[in-house]
Amino acid sequence: MPPLMEHFDALIVGAGPAGSFAAELLARAGVKVALFDGRPEGEPKACGGGVTAKALKAWPHLLNAVGRTVDELEMYSPSGKRLHLCLEEPFAIYSRIAFDLYLRERAKTAGAKVFAAKISARGIKRTQNGWTLREVLGASTAAPQPGSCTPRGEPALTRSEWLGQMLVGADGAGSSVARMLAGPLPPSEMEIAFGYRAPLPESGEPPTVIAFLPGWIGYAWAFPRLDHISFGIATTQEAFKHQPLDKLLWDFMLGYYRQREDPKAKLWASRKADRERDERIREKLATTAERYAARIPGLNDKTWDTRRVCGEGWALLGDAAGFADPVTGEGIYYALRSAELFAESFLVQTPLDYEERWREDFGRDLKRASQMRRRFYGNFWGAPFTERMIGFARGHRGIKRVLGDLVAGEQGYVDLKKKLARSALRPV
Ligand SMILES: Cc1cc2nc3c(=O)[nH]c(=O)nc-3n(C[C@H](O)[C@H](O)[C@H](O)COP(=O)(O)OP(=O)(O)OC[C@H]3O[C@@H](n4cnc5c(N)ncnc54)[C@H](O)[C@@H]3O)c2cc1C
Repeated sequence: MPPLMEHFDALIVGAGPAGSFAAELLARAGVKVALFDGRPEGEPKACGGGVTAKALKAWPHLLNAVGRTVDELEMYSPSGKRLHLCLEEPFAIYSRIAFDLYLRERAKTAGAKVFAAKISARGIKRTQNGWTLREVLGASTAAPQPGSCTPRGEPALTRSEWLGQMLVGADGAGSSVARMLAGPLPPSEMEIAFGYRAPLPESGEPPTVIAFLPGWIGYAWAFPRLDHISFGIATTQEAFKHQPLDKLLWDFMLGYYRQREDPKAKLWASRKADRERDERIREKLATTAERYAARIPGLNDKTWDTRRVCGEGWALLGDAAGFADPVTGEGIYYALRSAELFAESFLVQTPLDYEERWREDFGRDLKRASQMRRRFYGNFWGAPFTERMIGFARGHRGIKRVLGDLVAGEQGYVDLKKKLARSALRPV
């Protein structure tokens, strides 16, 4: 049977936040868009799902997605010092199934055609008129997702072909489109994040927690969602060692539940008196917690200068472009913002301007974050910088405010040192 052909102005591979938002913006302006995603239905993207106040302010409609807003945060230094932050501007935590579906539905409502199809690099060809994408027979593992369709209603594995002028790679950290068009990123420019989705504690309001790791680069998080908690650890590829980090995460999870039952209990340290309770919590988690792991781009500072994310007839967005904060691993804001900058450039028929626009908009700050990464997780006056930062913030309102702004996404890295120093000099 000959392949079925459909023509589009833009072919977007990947319907995460970057791809879906770009599809929505383009389709709303009358561009004919095809949006592809190969994720099996019901399988969430591995993610904490934290969306900063900065992102919520930029795109208030995100608050319509089913999630939870958070205006208080517990932070822990590597030695276990606690800092309670009341956030002036709340951030939100979403299940990635709900968040991604919400954005995908918006793209569909705007007029984009959504296909449940995995596009492999082998199935992408450049032609005189643009691009041809082919879902290679048998390559798809995707079941049709809610809001998706197969062309003219054939069975999911029918060989299909799509033609388009512009190819957009929004297919995440492992992007095969980016590998083909911009070259592969070395493993050293990837961060690792892994964790568990676990049940909410039986009673009380579960706190949102960020704890810098004792003796390791990175941090652990507990992000309560509506029906479960996402626990996780983000660290660099270089620092990643599966066994000790997994143990650390289990210690963190045990500490988290332990503190719900006994507010005097420590987060990291289990006392003799805690042993029985810990065993009970561990047994419950062993049968309920679901593990996940994935990579996040963490570009080196020099790569920000050399990597190009668009060219004649193609562009990369979000994780596929390498756009995540190398200190925190936060990427949802950059996925959405890169989609917006690309769509704006495309709609005024200067798609290549996208390169300059992302550099001006957030590129400098992400490059600065790469330069700071080592120092952020390194030592400062004989102790980890994160230990000092939490320690100072506990005793100083100005520093606490700067830390709150950092969490909100409002405080960039370019002037972070200056802001901290200026706050430290102001009276408490
Ligand atoms: C464990 C973990 C925790 C994180 N926590 C946070 C957090 O709390 N806050 C935050 O801001 N960031 C977080 N991040 C980063 C964040 O998840 C990403 O930066 C963000 O999802 C990037 O969005 P995206 O649209 O570029 O890519 P993705 O969200 O990865 O979406 C890519 C889409 O492309 C699809 N796809 C991939 N290959 C193909 C193909 N060949 N054909 C068709 N479809 C394809 C995938 O199914 C996916 O739906 C975390 C990352 C990890 C790994």
